[in-house]
Amino acid sequence: MKTLASVHADTPTHWVGDGFPVQSILSYHEHGARISPFLLLDYAAPAEFPAAEKPRGVERHPHRGFETVTVVYQGRLAHRDSAGHAGVIGPGDVQWMTAAAGVVHEEFHEQEFTRRGGVLEMVQLWVNLPAAHKMSPPKYQTLLARDIPIVPVAGARGRVRVIAGDFEGTSGAAQTFTPVDLWDVRLPAGATVVLPVREGFMAAVLVLRGQAGLGGSERLRGGELALFERDGAGVAVAATDDCGLLLLAGQPIDEPIVGRGPFVMNTADEIQQAIRDFQAGRMGRLD
Ligand code: MN
Repeated sequence: MKTLASVHADTPTHWVGDGFPVQSILSYHEHGARISPFLLLDYAAPAEFPAAEKPRGVERHPHRGFETVTVVYQGRLAHRDSAGHAGVIGPGDVQWMTAAAGVVHEEFHEQEFTRRGGVLEMVQLWVNLPAAHKMSPPKYQTLLARDIPIVPVAGARGRVRVIAGDFEGTSGAAQTFTPVDLWDVRLPAGATVVLPVREGFMAAVLVLRGQAGLGGSERLRGGELALFERDGAGVAVAATDDCGLLLLAGQPIDEPIVGRGPFVMNTADEIQQAIRDFQAGRMGRLD
């Protein structure tokens, strides 16, 4: 079994643009290779937005060298990028954007959600790419709720939605460049399960609702995250009450990480090149 390495609670909230009040619970700036293949986990806890005319969000900005994965729990988001991809995602949907060689994109609350107002809750992950794929062409996967396989667990009273990776023989909806597990887990009160994460994988569990015991003694509640050691296989979860969890796991990418703002590469020279390429319009334009 994997043992608990650390618990992350009470992460301060900051705003991304004017649309996303997030807690950066995991970040490579702070946690380095411990969280590889992930670079960032931003959680926007449920927040009420009043009705408005102008969509809130993040104006156009570039990315290079990794993927951004957005999981929506409440609210609706609209997205478009310089590679010609666009999409709207709502509760249960996931957007898996491979920036790779570079895109310019914008991320906003969807128009109708903005007009009506409502609660937004979402997670954005940054998933690193191995050096061999950092300069691959950009790609875009809209994974709608109906396309994400559901596997019953805990005597069928719970379920795992397999966004990425393999869960007990069911393949996830997302195509990934390196082995990544992303499982949206619901468990009923009293359920105890072992989520089958492989030996050697980084693993973390974010509690979204309810309370759960993770890795033995620690009991976590909404907005708290447990980070596990790479050693051992399987993450033990004991649901104290009906709970919702997001499990992220993956094979670490054993390569240097050099990042600046929206670019994450392997060397300082590659970061300088990314800045020049963006300024010269070589990551495309968004009009
Ligand atoms: Mn972005």
